[in-house]
Formats: sequence, structure tokens, C-alpha cells
Amino acid sequence: MTFEQAVEKFDPVLGLEVHVELNTETKMFCGCPTTFGGDPNSQVCPVCLGLPGSLPVVNAKAVESAIRIGLALNCSIAPWSRFARKNYFYPDMPKNYQISQYDEPIAVNGYLDVEVDGQTYRIGIERAHMEEDTGKSLHMGGATGRIHGADYSLVDYNRAGIPLIEIVTKPITGTGAKAPEVARAYVTALRDLLRALQVSDVRMEQGSLRCDANVSLRPSPDAQFGTRTETKNVNSLRSVERAVRYEIERQADVLDGGGVIVQETRHWHEDTGKTTSGRTKEEAEDYRYFPEPDLAPVAASAEWVDQLRTTLPEPPAQRRARLQQDWGFTDLEMRDVVNAEAVELIEETIAAGATAGGAKKWWLGELARRSNDSGVALADLGIDPDGVARIETLIAEGSLNDKMARQVIDGILAGEGTADEVVASRGLVVVSDDGALTVAVQEAISANPDVADKVRGGKVAAVGALVGAVMKATRGQADAGRVRELLLETLGVQE
Ligand SMILES: [Zn+2]
Repeated sequence: MTFEQAVEKFDPVLGLEVHVELNTETKMFCGCPTTFGGDPNSQVCPVCLGLPGSLPVVNAKAVESAIRIGLALNCSIAPWSRFARKNYFYPDMPKNYQISQYDEPIAVNGYLDVEVDGQTYRIGIERAHMEEDTGKSLHMGGATGRIHGADYSLVDYNRAGIPLIEIVTKPITGTGAKAPEVARAYVTALRDLLRALQVSDVRMEQGSLRCDANVSLRPSPDAQFGTRTETKNVNSLRSVERAVRYEIERQADVLDGGGVIVQETRHWHEDTGKTTSGRTKEEAEDYRYFPEPDLAPVAASAEWVDQLRTTLPEPPAQRRARLQQDWGFTDLEMRDVVNAEAVELIEETIAAGATAGGAKKWWLGELARRSNDSGVALADLGIDPDGVARIETLIAEGSLNDKMARQVIDGILAGEGTADEVVASRGLVVVSDDGALTVAVQEAISANPDVADKVRGGKVAAVGALVGAVMKATRGQADAGRVRELLLETLGVQE
């Protein structure tokens, strides 16, 4: 069954659970650092290793971030919330329980508006709660990195105890054929919001933002919800959309053939674009939740919450509208900027002295191309807004042309220093000095007598070939406009 047939016949209902790792300096319940990429098991202590007798202490900064996230999602902040133990055995969880929040989360009942094709969808937020991350199992020797087929497994507890906020939506209905795009738009909007709050570095590829997608189908919008599946490991925005789309098609096929959907966890496979069956989904009672006896409840005072409310950033959608107006971009241009994740980069490039058009031209042109080719995000390419702004200034002054600017970018990306350092070390200077150009112009004319005759005979457009010859002779460093003028002058042709 195609996707179109699937959504014609069934009404999809979504539920999205997003885990975000906070960027606090220390873990949720101990003082271990949270830096990404440390040597395995180098950022651990008795608390996050779950050693007997160790006691957790709540990270105040993490609570602050949780409240700010709750407020930004239009949630009510609970005056009194509590941690609970979620009991299950898994080798990457050394205590054999995870400290989470269960029936008394810190933030409840909010919403986030997202836009798809000009239509706004209000996504209800059921809850946002605090918990700790697990460690990470690494399965060695197999071809897939999965436990199946592996020779042995290793476990790294550096991540164990890193503060997480889990944000759970209410059932998302009424999206029909737009369900996959709405899912992606929601995770995108949430990511932008979390980034604006500066509570996380929200890198899906590093796992600091993770999405589980619940999907179910029902025969019609007024029918009861169908049985849902929960797809894990969806680690890019594009995958969110693809995974939801795939699951809708798969479930429609099963239901259409008279089958039943099994409530289960499914794994998303980026390479095949499919989900496969995982474990049968546990129910809440399987986790034997009970209040965490080693931690006092979190009671955020109204004064503190009000004070945190004043620290909220301008909502990303509103900010984008304002910037679009300031920059004079069309809707389409702004959408390209947003999709390229270049809003902040362009904003900073303009602040560093570039024009809006100049900043957009480089980030969405040459740099976006390099980003696509290398698979490295624009922000991580190795050139910063100051560098782009400086290149733009040099072009505006006439000391660089576009071709040389690309060489400056090459130099900066190769680690040769700042724009000015690359210009100096590579000897990149636009030659607009007539003396130097006249020689090259004369040479180009004598080397191409046929072309010169054509131009003299009135075919002015043919001068392009001579301009090219001069540019080649000056290794691209000539001012092309001036070269053209000199050629026509020398050939005695008036335009
Ligand atoms: Zn620790």
C-alpha cells in the first residue's frame, strides 16, 4: 500500500517522546563532568556507578533548565514534584534502576505551535520530566554494531547520570497525510526552542536530542485509537519524517490484510529506511515505580518560577519573522536559511559587518555546497561568521573577487589562519593596476588575433574570450570589469 493509499484509508495518530541531554557542567546527581567524547569510564564516581552507600544530590542547574523548558512549552510548573525509581535491569544502568519522575513530573500540560505548509498545528505537551541518562553499551566484533552477531560487549558509564529532560506530547491527531511532516516540524521547532534556551547543544547525531515516535492508525478520525508502536533510534530530523511515514505504510498494510498491530518497540534503520521489531513494549507496572527515598521532593517557589520566566528567550518562530523582516528576505529565502540551519550564522555574520545578502550568498552558496559535500554541518565547517564577514568586506572594497574569495575559504578551512592571513600568505590581490593589466591585455590580443578581429568588426560579445585569457594569465587575480574596459579601449571599440 502506498503512503497516499494508507492515509486515505486510515487516520494516523502520533505521540512523540523527545529526550534532551542538558548542557550542565556536572551530572544530574553527582559532580562528574558531562563533557562529550572523554575516554570511556573516565567521568564516573561511586554515585553514577551505583556503588553501595553512595547518595545522590539533585543538580540545581538541571532543575532550573527543566523549569525554563517547561515554561517555554507553556506548561504549568508543579509547585511540588518528586523523583521516582524506574526499576529494570540493563547492563548500561549500573544501579539497576533509573532515577526519573513518574506521577509527579515538574512540568505538565503545555503546547508548542508548529507550522507546515502555512498551516499551524498546536502540539499538546503532556509533560516534561527530569531523569538521568544511562551509560552506553558497545557491541564489538559484529558487522552492524548491534548485539546480534557481536563477539562481546563493552560498557561506558560516562553518560550514566547525565541530566535528561523527557518531553512527551499528547496524542497528535488531525494531521492526516501531513503526519510525517508535522512530526519533523515538531522536533525541529522543539530543537530550535531548546537551542534558544541554551539548555542543550541539541545535536541529534551525537545523541543529545533523541526522538521516539509512537504511531498508530485508526479507521476514521472519530474511532478509538489503534494499537501503537514506538520507534526508537531516530537520530536526525529527516529520519523522524521517514520513520513515521514508513510506520504508517507498514501498519496500513498489516491492518488492510486483516492483521493486528503488536504493541512493541521498533528500531529504525537509517540505511534501509525501515523499522524492525524490537522487544514487546513494557507497561508502566513492569517498572515497579516507587518514590525515590534518597532524594527530597523538588518544590520550586512561585518567586523562582516567575524569575525564571523573565529569562525566556524570544520564541524562535517570532524571532525568525523579525529577522526575515530586518534582512528583507522572501519567505522562500528564509525557509532556505532555516533549513540550512544558518539563521544564527547569518545573524552573526551581519553583526560582524556583512550585508544580509552577502552573508546569505556565502553561507547558502559556497559554504552550503562544501557542507553537503563533506557531511559536516555549516557551523562546524571551520569558518566562523567573522571570517565570512571579512571576506565580504574585502570583496566590497574591491581587493578580492569571488573566485579569490573561494581560495580564501579554502585556506581558512585548511587551517591557514584568518582571512587576512590567507590573503597575505597566498598573495591574493586583485590586480586592477592598469600598468600590470595592459601587458596582459596586449598579450591576449596578439595571441588571439581572430577573436580580436571579430571584436573590432563589431562582435563585442566575443571579447569574453579575451577577458578569459587575461584572467587565466593573471591567475584569476585581475579585476574582470577593468580588463574588459581595457580590452575594448585597446581594440578601439566603443559600446
Ligand atoms: Zn558521578
